[in-house]
Amino acid sequence: SSSCRRDKQEGRILKGPGNIELPKTTIPDFVFSHCEKFPDLVCSECPITKKKYTFRQVRDRSKNLGKVLRKKFGLNRGDAVLIFLPNLPEFQITTLGCMTAGLVVSTANCLYTADEISRQIVDSSSKLIITTVESYEVARKSVEKAQKRIPIICIRTRQDQLLPRDAIDFEEVSTTVLDIPDLEPSDPEDVAVLPYSSGTTGLPKGVRLSHHNIVSNLMQMNDSYSKLIRNVEGNEQDVTLAVLPMFHIYGFTITTLFMMIKGSKVLPLQRFSPDTYIQSLKEYNVDYLFLAPPLVLFLTLHPDVLPEYLKKLRFAFSGAAPLGPLDEEKFLDKVGRHVLLVQAYGLTETSPLVAANTRFVGEDLRDVSQGSIGHVVANTEAKIVKPGDPTATPLGALESGELLVRGPQVMQGYHNNQKATDEILQDGWLRTGDLAHYNERDFIFITDRVKELIKVKGFQVAPAELEELLRDHPKVADAAVIGIPDMVSGELPRAYIQLKENTNTDDINRFLNDKVAKYKRLEGGIEFVKEIPKNSAGKILRRQLKERYLQEQQA
Ligand code: AMP
Repeated sequence: SSSCRRDKQEGRILKGPGNIELPKTTIPDFVFSHCEKFPDLVCSECPITKKKYTFRQVRDRSKNLGKVLRKKFGLNRGDAVLIFLPNLPEFQITTLGCMTAGLVVSTANCLYTADEISRQIVDSSSKLIITTVESYEVARKSVEKAQKRIPIICIRTRQDQLLPRDAIDFEEVSTTVLDIPDLEPSDPEDVAVLPYSSGTTGLPKGVRLSHHNIVSNLMQMNDSYSKLIRNVEGNEQDVTLAVLPMFHIYGFTITTLFMMIKGSKVLPLQRFSPDTYIQSLKEYNVDYLFLAPPLVLFLTLHPDVLPEYLKKLRFAFSGAAPLGPLDEEKFLDKVGRHVLLVQAYGLTETSPLVAANTRFVGEDLRDVSQGSIGHVVANTEAKIVKPGDPTATPLGALESGELLVRGPQVMQGYHNNQKATDEILQDGWLRTGDLAHYNERDFIFITDRVKELIKVKGFQVAPAELEELLRDHPKVADAAVIGIPDMVSGELPRAYIQLKENTNTDDINRFLNDKVAKYKRLEGGIEFVKEIPKNSAGKILRRQLKERYLQEQQA
C-alpha cells in the first residue's frame, strides 16, 4: 500500500511536456552561436534616438568590453559588476560583454536611489558599475555611501551629452580592440547573473543564477513559444517593443536574450510614457509585445492607442503579476482577435519562466483556459502543497495550496545566505510563496500570495525593507507594511505605524521618500496604531492587518 500511495502522490505532480536536451554551455556562447546566422540584421534600436547595433556589432563590442574589463580594470572571473541601466540599445553589449569575461552581472532597478544601490554594491561586492550619464550622480553617491572606490562606466544616451568628469566612456571601452586571447568559457554551473529578490520573506537577496539555469530557460522558452515566436528568415525581421525593464529577470531573459536568439529586432524604450509608447507603436509595426498587467490595461483603455497600430501584432505576453480573464477579454476586444494574448508565470528565482499558457490542441491555441498561467514548461515539475506542510505532500486537482516547482531553471540559492536558501529550497523543490490550484486539465491558476512580497506594477516591494527604514525614524517605535489591492498598480504599500512621539503622515512620507524608489512609496496610506499585531515569536501578523483592511473597505 505504501507503493500505491507513492503512485498516487506521483500522479499529483504536474510535469512539463517531455524532456528536452539541455546543452552544457555558457550564455554568451549559446546566444552568439545562434546570432551567427544573421550578423547584419539589427539586434536593438532605440525607438526615440534611432541609435542601433547589428548582431555583429553586439558580439564584437561585447568581446571588446570583456577584454578591457579584464586587462585595464583588472577584473577576474567571478567578480560582480553592477548594471544600473534603463532599457537601452547598449544593454545586450553590457551584459554579454561582462559574461564573456566570466563576470557576474548584478542587475539593479534603474529607479533605485543611492541608498538602495549602495546596499546592492556592498551585498554583491560589485567591483565596477555600468550606468548612464543621467544616473551617474546616483551611482557616484552610492559608491560614496558604500565607502568604496570603484570605477563607473557611463553610457551616453544622447549624442550631445557631456561625460561627467570622473566617468569612463562606454563608447571608448566597447570599441577598444585589445590583442589578447578570449577567456576560456566559464563553467556552465558558474553564477552568471545576480538579480535581487526578497523571495518569500525578509530583505532583498542576491539570486544566484548560473549559465546553465538561464540557457535551460532559453531552451524551455523555445519549446513553449515555438509556434508563437518565429525564427527570423532571411531579412524578414520581426519587431519587439521592449518597455518591461531589462534589469528585471523577465526583460533580461525573455526580451533581451531570447529575442536575440530568435533574431527579432528589439526596440528598448528607456522609460514608459504614454506618448513615446504610443508613438513607437505607431511608427514601428510591432509583432510582439511583452507586457505586465498595468500595460495590458493601458493598451485596452487609452483612447489614443488605435487598433490599427497593432494590426501586425501576433503575440502579446503578460507576466509578473496576475491578469484576470475579464481583462484578457477586454484587451482582445480592443486590439482584435488576430492577437494571441498569453499569460506566463515565473520568478526571479526561476530564471524566470515556470509556466505558460501555450499548449496547443492541434493548431488551435484558443482552447486555453482564461485567467490561467497554463502548464509547466518542459523539464519542469510542479505540485501544490498545504502551506507550511513539512512533508510537502502533493494535493489533488482543485485543492488550493502553495505552489512548489522543480527544474533546471531553479536558482542555485541566495548569495551569502544559506539560511534563506534552506528555507525556500528543499530537495530541489522551490517554494514559490504563491497560492494556486490546478483544474482537471492541469491548468494552473494563481489565486493569492502567501509570501510577504508586494508587487507594485510588477516591481517587487519587500515589506521588511520598508519596515526597517520606518523603524529608523526617530519618532517611530514599530511598523508593519502590507500590500493593498489597486486597480492600476495591482497593489500599493500601506504602513501601520506605532509612534513613540507624536508626528504626522507628511513627516513620515518625507522621511521615507528620498530613501526609496518612487514605486515603494506608501501610496496605500499610513495608519497610526497603538500596537503592531505579532505572534508569540514576535513575527508581524501582516495577514491579519490585510484582512482587517479588506473588511473595513467592504463595510
Ligand atoms: P519576481 O521575482 O519579481 O519576478 O516576482 C515573482 C512573483 O510575481 C511570483 O512569485 C508571483 O507572486 C508574481 N507573478 C509572476 N507572474 C505572475 C502571474 N502570471 N500571475 C500571478 N502572479 C504572478
